[in-house]
Amino acid sequence: MMKKMLALCLGGYSAWAIAGFDVVALGVEGGVSDGNLTSYLIRSDGQTQYLALDAGTLLPGIAKGLEKGSFPQVTSELAAPYTPQGYIFRKLIDSYFISHGHLDHVAGLIIGSPEDDKKTVYAQADTVLTLRNHYFNWKAWPNFTDAGNGARLGTYRLQTVRPQQRVTLGLSGLSGVMYLLSHENYSSSMLLVSDREGSFAYFGDTGSDALEKSRNLDTVWRALGPLIEQKKLKGMIIETSYPNGVDEKHLYGHLTPALLLKELKNLQQYSGGEGSLKDLPVVISHIKPSLKQGEDVRAIIKQQLDQGNDLGVKFILMEQGERQQF
Ligand SMILES: [Zn+2]
Ligand SMILES: [Zn+2]
Repeated sequence: MMKKMLALCLGGYSAWAIAGFDVVALGVEGGVSDGNLTSYLIRSDGQTQYLALDAGTLLPGIAKGLEKGSFPQVTSELAAPYTPQGYIFRKLIDSYFISHGHLDHVAGLIIGSPEDDKKTVYAQADTVLTLRNHYFNWKAWPNFTDAGNGARLGTYRLQTVRPQQRVTLGLSGLSGVMYLLSHENYSSSMLLVSDREGSFAYFGDTGSDALEKSRNLDTVWRALGPLIEQKKLKGMIIETSYPNGVDEKHLYGHLTPALLLKELKNLQQYSGGEGSLKDLPVVISHIKPSLKQGEDVRAIIKQQLDQGNDLGVKFILMEQGERQQF
């Protein structure tokens, strides 16, 4: 896809304003396969550094991205003394946002930590506590953070983000507002990432409001509606873990195509009504892979989403290592 560039000439002042976000999928699945767990890099088109949205899989995803040409700016000369993979990991990931403490969202961060540069990890209070008390505790793993028990190696500064308060995200040139999500009696979160031109919504794992007996998604949709009306929301990444027909008690706080479509219908109400979500890019993440022969769960979920899509949204399934612009 071509980069969208706009030349702005304002009263003799001219500058290149580059509109949009650059997203690279480092891992797209919801558990099971340890080389391909949820993580997406996002950066503002005008910037060089990325924010990592979750960190289930990092280094194997970067390797896939290099293979697929998703980091065309990175050469061996630029990367030296690191490998291109090491350079992207250490230098181009500026900071991390972790949606919740489940292992499929943090495994890459933990396992890569001995080789990482000093960075900030942004997360809600509950997730910061999980990282500190259950992972970086000298039992599960050495303490590479700046808090918690025992010697603090200090690679990661754990920064608590409060719900619905804007934070500047490291030196990525992005800011974010975090909203809480319900994930079967567990607190997950979404991050609304913004630069000067627009916004992009990243959802951690979430159940539907109806099944979670929650208003958390409704609160998010109310916040996104006006951005859609103003054409400022460039897209979103949201989970659809299971196909339709999975028993409610086996959803474990996740969405199906039918549940996501119902939630998006609620978003449509707040976005200007019928037709207002037409062509909105919605990236489907966190599909639970099937280990059964001949069962292509990605294809099944895509088909079920397309079939019920009277909203006209643009459902996208990204592959590991793939890059897209929004
Ligand atoms: Zn998950
Ligand atoms: Zn989870």
